[in-house]
Amino acid sequence: MSQAESNLTLPQDGRCAFCDYLSGARPYTVLSRDDLVAVLVTREQRGIGHLLVLPVRHCPTLLEATEPERHALIDTIARAAHAVDEAFARPGIAVWQNNGTAAHQAIGHLHFHVAGTLPGGGTDFGDVPELSVEATDLIGERIRKGARRAGSWPL
Ligand SMILES: [Zn+2]
Repeated sequence: MSQAESNLTLPQDGRCAFCDYLSGARPYTVLSRDDLVAVLVTREQRGIGHLLVLPVRHCPTLLEATEPERHALIDTIARAAHAVDEAFARPGIAVWQNNGTAAHQAIGHLHFHVAGTLPGGGTDFGDVPELSVEATDLIGERIRKGARRAGSWPL
């Protein structure tokens, strides 16, 4: 598969927020990580139990992900969905991912969203409050316990 540059327009956001979270330069709830993939608890909860699954390496979009990264991502997405199911018992779990600003990619580091649905269904794509890291740590702890019960820990 070609690794040539894509035609996508990427967000121009200077330092990568996700790389800062993963390096510890900025505080954030990192639920789990291995050599390839990390799981974060986003401060913008658009569902009930909303996680971000991303490659540890700075990789702009799905088009630049390596085969090992792609395989690790989908495995981790499925395990994260099991954990959210066990932790929050929602009737739906949404998974979404955007490439390029035209597709509403906001941070130029590949990430998948995994979120339990809200009461009434769906997820919230409008303005949501930005939670504290203490609050997302608590969500992460609940999901960690759910993952252990579901037999999908570590994610
Ligand atoms: Zn990055």
